Amino acid sequence: NKISLTALIEDVLKNFQIDPQHNIRFVDESTNAIVSADEERIIQLLFNLIGNAIKFSPNGGEIIIRMQNINETVQVSIQDRGIGIPESAIPSLFQKFKRVDNSSRRKIGGTGLGLALSKEIISKHKGDIWLESEEGIGTTIFFTLPLYDQEIVENRNELSEEKTISNRTVMIV
Ligand code: ATP
Ligand code: MG
Repeated sequence: NKISLTALIEDVLKNFQIDPQHNIRFVDESTNAIVSADEERIIQLLFNLIGNAIKFSPNGGEIIIRMQNINETVQVSIQDRGIGIPESAIPSLFQKFKRVDNSSRRKIGGTGLGLALSKEIISKHKGDIWLESEEGIGTTIFFTLPLYDQEIVENRNELSEEKTISNRTVMIV
């Protein structure tokens, strides 16, 4: 199906339970975010990734979702200022049931399926998914999806639209 990733992300954010200490900013720098995708699966992916950003930021902090056109793809990044991931654990996290086990994380629940499922969804759509993280600093997860019309587009950085989705009352400014 032909879907707008801009509209989909806005929709997901409006429906997200965000606790009051988190602020989510959506920075859309793309000029073309129309992709051919299974809408339900992409919603599931977004819930997984945004959910992780919130869950692994127990002390709050801003979460920034940025969308850009990179060549013939649309790239989305979700950046948090949470607990981060030790470097040695990063390569295996996209496998099923892999979680980072240390005392500060033991309190944070989960089954370790979210990233494996996200990878499967992105692979089916011929995109890529990867993450960068530093312990104690935060994590950024990236994914790309091929554009529906695969022409090369440029970012409109100067015109970038910012939307602040805050807790309780969700506002799109
Ligand atoms: P589930 O998604 O099944 O509820 P989960 O969130 O633990 O459980 P994944 O989403 O697959 O599982 O993530 C795997 C592990 O990667 C997590 O347990 C956590 O250790 C680490 N991780 C994922 N995202 C982040 C993040 N944004 N910040 C810090 N650690 C993360
Ligand atoms: Mg998860």
